Amino acid sequence: RSVNKLGDPAALVIENRMLREQNRRAKEELEKARDDLERMVVERTRELMEANIRLNELSITDGLTGLFNQRYFLGELETEFGKALRYGRGLALLLFDIDHFKDVNDRYGHPCGDLVLKNLAGLLRGCLRSSDIAARCGGDELAIILPETNKLKAVEVAKKLRRHLERSRFAWNGASFRITCSIGVAAVPDRGIDNWNALLESADSSLYRAKREGRNTVVAINSRKRPYVTKDGHIRRQQVRSIQ
Ligand code: GH3
Ligand code: MG
Repeated sequence: RSVNKLGDPAALVIENRMLREQNRRAKEELEKARDDLERMVVERTRELMEANIRLNELSITDGLTGLFNQRYFLGELETEFGKALRYGRGLALLLFDIDHFKDVNDRYGHPCGDLVLKNLAGLLRGCLRSSDIAARCGGDELAIILPETNKLKAVEVAKKLRRHLERSRFAWNGASFRITCSIGVAAVPDRGIDNWNALLESADSSLYRAKREGRNTVVAINSRKRPYVTKDGHIRRQQVRSIQ
């Protein structure tokens, strides 16, 4: 800088070159810092999106079985019912409950019962289509929504599940045992069912009937016999179809 005091043009040229070089380096560093920052933002955004997806999955999943949880199931039932009604498509619901599951816990212990529920979920997944929605509604009760499925087909699916479970073996600490299930089926179109809650009630009544009929069975109540109360005030019993 002292050279420049005299206004020496050569010194000015040198100083100018130095300044340009400093400027170029500063620019380079700035660009690199900006690239690093952009990469970091992209990476963090990706991590955040993945965490959000995982969080969403967890909020709709049953922790033990990996099936959907009850809250998600109810939302989906409402949605699928709306679609079925709007487009005049079939929609079926299976309510599935393990028979005497308490005995499994009592005999082999709660962790064994947990393992049975877990393995049962895997077994169900193997039998269902990817568009079917299987959920755990709490305890040993599962619900399966079968979109685009009429009652006849739903009963076939339920029968297949019942038979498959009956033939499966579960192992625990060197012991081997079998379990059975009862399944209630309901579906639309059905003259007695005009909302998703009625579909749920009908499947629940069928499941209840399956338990009463001795378990290890599939029941589809024929709700065309509704209304239950006739004009003269008598309560009409529902027609029951039980399928082994
Ligand atoms: P049934 O359905 O045939 O009438 O008899 P059940 O013995 O299966 O009776 P119920 O369905 O009323 O009872 C369900 C039992 O399932 C009660 C409880 O011991 C057991 N259970 C519920 N949730 C869990 C769980 O998360 N893990 C285990 N291991 N057992 C559970
Ligand atoms: Mg049970």
